Amino acid sequence: MPIYCYRCLDCGLSHEIRHGFDETYDGVCDACRGVVRKYFGEVHIAASATPTRGVHDGKAIDWSGSKAKERQKERDMAAYKRLRSEGLQPPSIDGSSRLETHAGSSHEVTGGTILSEKGRKRKEAALNDVFGSA
Ligand SMILES: [Zn+2]
Repeated sequence: MPIYCYRCLDCGLSHEIRHGFDETYDGVCDACRGVVRKYFGEVHIAASATPTRGVHDGKAIDWSGSKAKERQKERDMAAYKRLRSEGLQPPSIDGSSRLETHAGSSHEVTGGTILSEKGRKRKEAALNDVFGSA
């Protein structure tokens, strides 16, 4: 049997009442004997078995992943969008925030590689020959 949440109209106390789908509870508030009404914000079939799921960008968040990973994903997505809006095309969303922060040239963003300071000058020169100066 499902558990329904009822809330007291007078004092706001919520009550968890178990009854059938087509029944209603017509009792009163335990605390103040006030009128209780079904509260639709929180209807669950079993108190323990339903995992909490969040929805983000239309997709369910996988809570098995760590929060840190989730935040990294969000940063990557935000950086990816910013880079795209600047006309740059990172090779993938993953790692975009790292590219945005550390890339010294647009070639590094589009190539998806951060060059070392030493390698940068050399490669930049070579890339500029090919793609033209950034
Ligand atoms: Zn009450």
